[in-house]
Amino acid sequence: SFPADAVPQAPEDPLFGLSRAYKADTSPDKVDLGIGAYRDDNAKPWVLPVVKKADEILRNDPEANHEYLPIAGLQAFTSRAAELLLGKSAPAIAEKRTVSVQSISGTGAVHLGALFLAKFYKGSRTVYLSNPTWANHHQIFSNVGLPIATYPYFSKETRGLDVDGLKATLEKADEGSIIVLHACAHNPTGVDPTPEQWREIASVMKAKKHFPFFDTAYQGFASGDLDRDAGAIRHFAEEGFELVIAQSFAKNFGLYGQRAGCFHYVAPSGAGAAEGANIATRVSSQLSILQRSEISNPPIYGARIASIVLNDDALFAEWQENLRTMSGRIIDMRKKLRAKLEELQTPGGWNHITDQIGMFSFTGLSEPQVLKLRTDYHIYMTKNGRISMAGLNSRNVEYVAAAFDKVVR
Ligand code: PLP
Repeated sequence: SFPADAVPQAPEDPLFGLSRAYKADTSPDKVDLGIGAYRDDNAKPWVLPVVKKADEILRNDPEANHEYLPIAGLQAFTSRAAELLLGKSAPAIAEKRTVSVQSISGTGAVHLGALFLAKFYKGSRTVYLSNPTWANHHQIFSNVGLPIATYPYFSKETRGLDVDGLKATLEKADEGSIIVLHACAHNPTGVDPTPEQWREIASVMKAKKHFPFFDTAYQGFASGDLDRDAGAIRHFAEEGFELVIAQSFAKNFGLYGQRAGCFHYVAPSGAGAAEGANIATRVSSQLSILQRSEISNPPIYGARIASIVLNDDALFAEWQENLRTMSGRIIDMRKKLRAKLEELQTPGGWNHITDQIGMFSFTGLSEPQVLKLRTDYHIYMTKNGRISMAGLNSRNVEYVAAAFDKVVR
């Protein structure tokens, strides 16, 4: 048996703990601003209309069965997934410098990438994470034995990007460090670099030969525009970087529990097209071994749904419309929350609420204020003051603003 000093009690995952506390709260006023999943204006999960259609097509397909997928997953899905990130006419795709492996959503893609780097990466093995970042990054990279450091990201003063601190840290880091970058809609801050700042970050990373590890969980969900949300990744790819990308379809397709995702490797352009393709072939062979020993082959259902949409022009257009519905509602909630706080003349500036993008906003509320909101107003958010904009709707936004106002004063 395992004594407590060998297997100590681990703390509960803070997010899942928060969700449990919310569910147990019987107040009719309760508001869940912790969830990392989209909710419609009635606070209900939203099955995208285009996903319903694809599901219908799938269920009526006489050829559909429950056989295993290949180790690398559904190719009709993974190849379109790569195009979605890099652009249809990307040289890396034309030159066969990319490898795409279907994963257990974004988490599984980050893990597969971490495992691959832990086994094969020969540069400085330190993984730099933004401070703060999605908490799971810390666990995933340390679980595979890679040392972790952080780079400054969020400025408490401006509630925006600390671009100088970020660049200074990347400049000081050992050459060839692994840098994890959120492609868009940074979790938890909602703060993204501007296109100009991305260019600056890329140029520091190029000078230092750092290795970009992109995590993209919100493409199309941030701005409503798939191409715009892939801007940072495309810039790095155009600059010829060797890089990896962990891609999730949980949020942008609303396929959370289906675990549809993809891991991509892009060989450097500088190696020349033929050598780039050779590297990709070798990387692909090793990813297959890792995948086989980890999950054998990925889950089929969600990938098929996404694949149906990604491979049909009309359904793809409808998906883009659905993305605009989700991102539009979230942007609207940002505007309403800020307007109400300003109307109440709540102390502090609130422009960051609309400057930030994507599912989350770093409100700047302190931990005592967060706890007071929970106990006195039944409003649930993480202790760092992060709120999920998706938890706001036309019926609760004024209540939430009024409660923020009370705890801030
Ligand atoms: N990466 C980031 C930054 C995220 O915010 C999330 C989800 O919250 C993920 C990855 C992975 O999510 P999933 O495994 O559900 O695709």
